[in-house]
Amino acid sequence: MNPTRIRDGLRVTPGGRPRLDRVDPRDTLGLSGREEAEAVVARCQERLEALQSLLAAEDRRSLLVVLQGMDASGKDGVVRTLCGALNPMILKLAAFGVPTKPELRHDFLWRITRELPERGRVAVFNRSHYEDVLVVRVDGLVPEDVWRARYDQIVRFEERLAEIGTTVVKLMLHISPDEQLERLRQRAADPLKRWKFSADDLRKRDQWDAYMAAYEDAIERTGTEGAPWYVIPADRKWARNTFALEIITSALERLELPEPPLPDGLPDGFLEERPAG
Ligand code: AMP
Ligand code: MG
Repeated sequence: MNPTRIRDGLRVTPGGRPRLDRVDPRDTLGLSGREEAEAVVARCQERLEALQSLLAAEDRRSLLVVLQGMDASGKDGVVRTLCGALNPMILKLAAFGVPTKPELRHDFLWRITRELPERGRVAVFNRSHYEDVLVVRVDGLVPEDVWRARYDQIVRFEERLAEIGTTVVKLMLHISPDEQLERLRQRAADPLKRWKFSADDLRKRDQWDAYMAAYEDAIERTGTEGAPWYVIPADRKWARNTFALEIITSALERLELPEPPLPDGLPDGFLEERPAG
Protein backbone atom coordinates (compact mmCIF):
# COMPACT_ATOMS: atom_id res chain seq x y z
CA MET A 1 0.00 0.00 0.00
CA ASN A 2 1.29 3.40 -0.97
CA PRO A 3 1.18 5.82 2.00
CA THR A 4 0.25 8.76 -0.21
CA ARG A 5 -2.97 6.90 -0.89
CA ILE A 6 -3.88 7.38 2.78
CA ARG A 7 -3.01 11.08 2.79
CA ASP A 8 -4.60 11.96 -0.53
CA GLY A 9 -7.56 9.65 -0.06
CA LEU A 10 -8.59 11.10 3.29
CA ARG A 11 -7.74 14.76 2.81
CA VAL A 12 -10.72 17.01 2.23
CA THR A 13 -9.93 19.43 -0.58
CA PRO A 14 -9.83 22.90 1.01
CA GLY A 15 -13.09 24.72 0.38
CA GLY A 16 -14.80 21.45 -0.47
CA ARG A 17 -17.67 20.04 1.49
CA PRO A 18 -17.26 16.49 2.73
CA ARG A 19 -20.31 14.27 2.32
CA LEU A 20 -19.98 12.32 5.52
CA ASP A 21 -22.88 10.05 4.63
CA ARG A 22 -20.86 8.91 1.63
CA VAL A 23 -17.66 8.20 3.54
CA ASP A 24 -17.65 4.54 4.58
CA PRO A 25 -16.47 4.29 8.22
CA ARG A 26 -15.32 0.74 7.48
CA ASP A 27 -13.12 1.73 4.55
CA THR A 28 -9.55 0.38 4.74
CA LEU A 29 -8.28 2.20 1.62
CA GLY A 30 -6.91 -1.04 0.28
CA LEU A 31 -5.09 -2.11 3.45
CA SER A 32 -5.49 -5.87 3.38
CA GLY A 33 -5.73 -6.25 7.15
CA ARG A 34 -4.01 -5.86 10.50
CA GLU A 35 -0.76 -7.31 9.28
CA GLU A 36 -0.28 -4.78 6.52
CA ALA A 37 -1.46 -2.02 8.86
CA GLU A 38 1.17 -3.02 11.41
CA ALA A 39 3.84 -2.78 8.74
CA VAL A 40 2.73 0.78 7.90
CA VAL A 41 2.74 1.67 11.61
CA ALA A 42 6.24 0.22 12.08
CA ARG A 43 7.50 2.25 9.13
CA CYS A 44 5.91 5.42 10.57
CA GLN A 45 7.60 4.77 13.89
CA GLU A 46 10.99 4.54 12.21
CA ARG A 47 10.38 7.79 10.34
CA LEU A 48 9.11 9.50 13.51
CA GLU A 49 12.20 8.47 15.41
CA ALA A 50 14.28 10.72 13.17
CA LEU A 51 11.66 13.41 12.57
CA GLN A 52 11.02 14.17 16.22
CA SER A 53 14.74 14.55 16.89
CA LEU A 54 15.09 16.95 13.97
CA LEU A 55 12.03 18.90 15.15
CA ALA A 56 13.50 19.28 18.63
CA ALA A 57 16.96 20.09 17.25
CA GLU A 58 15.61 22.82 14.99
CA ASP A 59 13.74 24.28 17.98
CA ARG A 60 11.78 26.63 15.79
CA ARG A 61 8.60 25.04 14.48
CA SER A 62 5.92 22.79 15.99
CA LEU A 63 3.01 20.57 15.06
CA LEU A 64 -0.55 20.70 16.38
CA VAL A 65 -2.78 17.66 15.86
CA VAL A 66 -6.49 18.32 16.37
CA LEU A 67 -8.64 15.25 17.05
CA GLN A 68 -12.38 15.56 16.66
CA GLY A 69 -15.10 12.95 16.47
CA MET A 70 -18.26 11.71 18.12
CA ASP A 71 -18.02 9.94 21.50
CA ALA A 72 -16.24 6.58 21.28
CA SER A 73 -14.90 7.41 17.81
CA GLY A 74 -11.40 6.61 19.05
CA LYS A 75 -9.78 9.92 19.97
CA ASP A 76 -8.19 8.33 23.06
CA GLY A 77 -7.04 5.38 20.96
CA VAL A 78 -5.24 7.67 18.54
CA VAL A 79 -3.67 9.50 21.49
CA ARG A 80 -2.38 6.15 22.81
CA THR A 81 -0.91 5.30 19.41
CA LEU A 82 0.89 8.64 19.31
CA CYS A 83 2.16 8.18 22.86
CA GLY A 84 3.70 4.92 21.73
CA ALA A 85 5.34 6.55 18.73
CA LEU A 86 6.61 9.87 20.07
CA ASN A 87 9.07 10.67 22.81
CA PRO A 88 7.20 11.95 25.91
CA MET A 89 9.60 14.91 25.97
CA ILE A 90 8.28 16.01 22.59
CA LEU A 91 4.59 15.29 23.06
CA LYS A 92 2.13 17.52 24.85
CA LEU A 93 -1.46 16.39 25.36
CA ALA A 94 -4.54 18.45 26.09
CA ALA A 95 -8.21 17.47 26.33
CA PHE A 96 -11.00 20.01 26.15
CA GLY A 97 -14.23 19.29 27.99
CA VAL A 98 -17.13 21.49 29.02
CA PRO A 99 -15.56 24.90 29.65
CA THR A 100 -15.09 25.96 33.26
CA LYS A 101 -16.62 29.18 34.57
CA PRO A 102 -13.34 31.08 34.26
CA GLU A 103 -12.90 29.75 30.71
CA LEU A 104 -16.39 30.94 29.80
CA ARG A 105 -15.45 34.43 30.91
CA HIS A 106 -12.87 34.56 28.12
CA ASP A 107 -13.02 34.26 24.35
CA PHE A 108 -13.30 30.62 23.19
CA LEU A 109 -9.72 30.60 21.91
CA TRP A 110 -8.25 31.59 25.26
CA ARG A 111 -8.03 28.09 26.74
CA ILE A 112 -6.80 26.77 23.39
CA THR A 113 -3.93 29.24 23.18
CA ARG A 114 -2.62 28.12 26.55
CA GLU A 115 -2.14 24.56 25.32
CA LEU A 116 -0.39 25.31 22.02
CA PRO A 117 2.87 23.45 21.42
CA GLU A 118 6.16 25.08 22.26
CA ARG A 119 8.88 25.28 19.63
CA GLY A 120 10.20 21.86 18.72
CA ARG A 121 7.17 20.04 20.12
CA VAL A 122 4.03 18.19 19.01
CA ALA A 123 0.73 18.95 20.75
CA VAL A 124 -2.30 16.71 20.44
CA PHE A 125 -5.73 18.12 21.22
CA ASN A 126 -8.43 15.65 22.24
CA ARG A 127 -11.34 17.91 21.21
CA SER A 128 -10.48 21.50 20.52
CA HIS A 129 -11.73 24.94 19.51
CA TYR A 130 -13.94 23.09 17.02
CA GLU A 131 -16.30 22.14 19.86
CA ASP A 132 -17.25 25.81 19.79
CA VAL A 133 -18.85 25.32 16.37
CA LEU A 134 -20.05 21.73 17.03
CA VAL A 135 -21.64 21.00 20.41
CA VAL A 136 -22.11 24.72 20.97
CA ARG A 137 -24.05 25.01 17.72
CA VAL A 138 -26.04 21.79 18.07
CA ASP A 139 -27.06 22.59 21.65
CA GLY A 140 -27.60 26.28 20.89
CA LEU A 141 -25.27 27.36 23.69
CA VAL A 142 -24.61 30.74 22.08
CA PRO A 143 -26.65 32.74 19.53
CA GLU A 144 -26.23 31.74 15.89
CA ASP A 145 -24.40 34.91 14.86
CA VAL A 146 -21.80 34.19 17.54
CA TRP A 147 -20.96 30.63 16.43
CA ARG A 148 -21.20 31.56 12.75
CA ALA A 149 -18.56 34.27 13.19
CA ARG A 150 -16.24 31.65 14.67
CA TYR A 151 -15.48 29.90 11.37
CA ASP A 152 -13.58 32.92 10.12
CA GLN A 153 -12.10 33.52 13.55
CA ILE A 154 -10.76 29.97 13.54
CA VAL A 155 -9.31 30.35 10.03
CA ARG A 156 -7.53 33.55 11.05
CA PHE A 157 -6.30 31.93 14.27
CA GLU A 158 -4.86 28.98 12.35
CA GLU A 159 -3.30 31.30 9.75
CA ARG A 160 -1.57 33.07 12.59
CA LEU A 161 -0.33 29.71 13.89
CA ALA A 162 1.14 28.95 10.45
CA GLU A 163 2.92 32.32 10.52
CA ILE A 164 4.57 31.53 13.83
CA GLY A 165 5.67 28.09 12.63
CA THR A 166 2.93 25.83 13.99
CA THR A 167 1.55 23.39 11.43
CA VAL A 168 -2.03 22.32 12.14
CA VAL A 169 -3.33 18.89 11.13
CA LYS A 170 -7.03 18.27 11.70
CA LEU A 171 -8.45 14.76 11.94
CA MET A 172 -12.15 13.96 12.11
CA LEU A 173 -12.64 10.37 13.25
CA HIS A 174 -15.69 9.15 11.38
CA ILE A 175 -17.55 6.35 13.15
CA SER A 176 -20.90 4.81 12.23
CA PRO A 177 -23.83 5.09 14.65
CA ASP A 178 -24.01 1.28 14.89
CA GLU A 179 -20.35 0.90 15.83
CA GLN A 180 -20.67 3.75 18.31
CA LEU A 181 -23.66 2.10 19.99
CA GLU A 182 -21.72 -1.14 20.36
CA ARG A 183 -18.74 0.70 21.87
CA LEU A 184 -20.94 2.65 24.29
CA ARG A 185 -22.60 -0.59 25.34
CA GLN A 186 -19.21 -2.18 25.97
CA ARG A 187 -18.14 0.89 27.91
CA ALA A 188 -21.13 0.75 30.22
CA ALA A 189 -20.68 -3.02 30.70
CA ASP A 190 -16.93 -3.01 31.38
CA PRO A 191 -15.97 -1.91 34.92
CA LEU A 192 -12.63 -0.64 33.62
CA LYS A 193 -14.18 1.46 30.86
CA ARG A 194 -17.27 2.61 32.71
CA TRP A 195 -15.65 5.86 33.87
CA LYS A 196 -15.71 7.05 30.29
CA PHE A 197 -19.42 6.44 29.85
CA SER A 198 -21.81 9.33 30.09
CA ALA A 199 -25.57 9.21 29.66
CA ASP A 200 -25.09 12.42 27.73
CA ASP A 201 -23.40 10.36 24.99
CA LEU A 202 -26.75 8.62 24.38
CA ARG A 203 -28.56 11.93 24.16
CA LYS A 204 -26.04 13.09 21.58
CA ARG A 205 -26.88 10.06 19.45
CA ASP A 206 -30.35 11.51 18.94
CA GLN A 207 -28.69 14.59 17.47
CA TRP A 208 -26.50 12.59 15.09
CA ASP A 209 -27.67 14.30 11.91
CA ALA A 210 -27.29 17.74 13.44
CA TYR A 211 -23.73 16.83 14.44
CA MET A 212 -22.90 15.55 10.97
CA ALA A 213 -24.24 18.78 9.44
CA ALA A 214 -22.18 20.80 11.93
CA TYR A 215 -19.07 18.76 11.06
CA GLU A 216 -19.65 19.22 7.35
CA ASP A 217 -19.98 22.98 7.77
CA ALA A 218 -16.95 23.21 10.04
CA ILE A 219 -14.79 21.18 7.66
CA GLU A 220 -15.95 23.16 4.63
CA ARG A 221 -15.51 26.53 6.30
CA THR A 222 -12.15 25.92 7.99
CA GLY A 223 -10.24 23.56 5.70
CA THR A 224 -7.33 25.47 4.14
CA GLU A 225 -4.23 24.57 2.14
CA GLY A 226 -2.13 25.21 5.23
CA ALA A 227 -4.42 23.41 7.68
CA PRO A 228 -6.55 20.86 5.83
CA TRP A 229 -9.04 18.41 7.34
CA TYR A 230 -8.78 14.65 7.04
CA VAL A 231 -11.85 12.45 7.50
CA ILE A 232 -10.69 9.13 8.93
CA PRO A 233 -12.80 5.98 8.64
CA ALA A 234 -12.91 4.93 12.28
CA ASP A 235 -15.02 1.78 12.65
CA ARG A 236 -11.91 -0.41 12.48
CA LYS A 237 -9.46 0.59 15.17
CA TRP A 238 -6.36 -0.73 13.43
CA ALA A 239 -7.17 1.14 10.22
CA ARG A 240 -8.01 4.33 12.13
CA ASN A 241 -4.72 4.30 14.07
CA THR A 242 -2.71 3.53 10.96
CA PHE A 243 -4.32 6.36 8.97
CA ALA A 244 -3.82 8.87 11.78
CA LEU A 245 -0.18 7.92 12.28
CA GLU A 246 0.60 8.06 8.56
CA ILE A 247 -0.98 11.51 8.17
CA ILE A 248 0.88 12.89 11.18
CA THR A 249 4.19 11.39 10.09
CA SER A 250 3.90 12.81 6.61
CA ALA A 251 2.95 16.24 8.01
CA LEU A 252 6.27 16.25 9.88
CA GLU A 253 8.10 15.09 6.77
CA ARG A 254 6.71 17.97 4.78
CA LEU A 255 8.44 20.39 7.15
CA GLU A 256 11.71 19.27 5.52
CA LEU A 257 13.47 19.62 8.83
CA PRO A 258 17.16 20.34 8.36
CA GLU A 259 19.95 18.30 9.84
CA PRO A 260 21.38 20.40 12.69
CA PRO A 261 24.87 21.89 12.25
CA LEU A 262 27.77 20.53 14.27
CA PRO A 263 27.85 21.82 17.85
CA ASP A 264 30.16 24.75 18.53
CA GLY A 265 33.30 24.30 20.54
CA LEU A 266 34.30 20.78 19.52
CA PRO A 267 37.98 20.14 20.22
CA ASP A 268 40.14 19.20 17.18
CA GLY A 269 39.77 15.57 16.24
CA PHE A 270 36.81 15.07 18.63
CA LEU A 271 34.70 13.41 15.95
CA GLU A 272 37.35 10.96 14.84
CA GLU A 273 36.57 7.44 15.85
CA ARG A 274 38.89 5.98 18.41
CA PRO A 275 40.24 2.49 17.95
CA ALA A 276 38.30 0.04 20.10
CA GLY A 277 39.81 -1.15 23.38
P1 AMP B 1 -15.15 13.72 26.74
O1 AMP B 1 -14.30 14.12 25.58
O2 AMP B 1 -15.87 12.45 26.52
O3 AMP B 1 -14.41 13.78 28.04
O4 AMP B 1 -16.32 14.79 26.87
C1 AMP B 1 -16.09 16.14 26.91
C2 AMP B 1 -17.41 16.82 26.71
O5 AMP B 1 -17.18 18.22 26.75
C3 AMP B 1 -18.05 16.50 25.37
O6 AMP B 1 -19.38 16.16 25.54
C4 AMP B 1 -17.92 17.82 24.62
O7 AMP B 1 -18.95 18.03 23.71
C5 AMP B 1 -17.93 18.83 25.75
N1 AMP B 1 -17.32 20.09 25.35
C6 AMP B 1 -16.07 20.28 24.88
N2 AMP B 1 -15.88 21.58 24.56
C7 AMP B 1 -17.03 22.21 24.81
C8 AMP B 1 -17.46 23.56 24.68
N3 AMP B 1 -16.64 24.50 24.21
N4 AMP B 1 -18.71 23.85 25.06
C9 AMP B 1 -19.53 22.90 25.54
N5 AMP B 1 -19.20 21.62 25.69
C10 AMP B 1 -17.96 21.27 25.34
MG1 MG C 1 -17.18 11.00 26.29
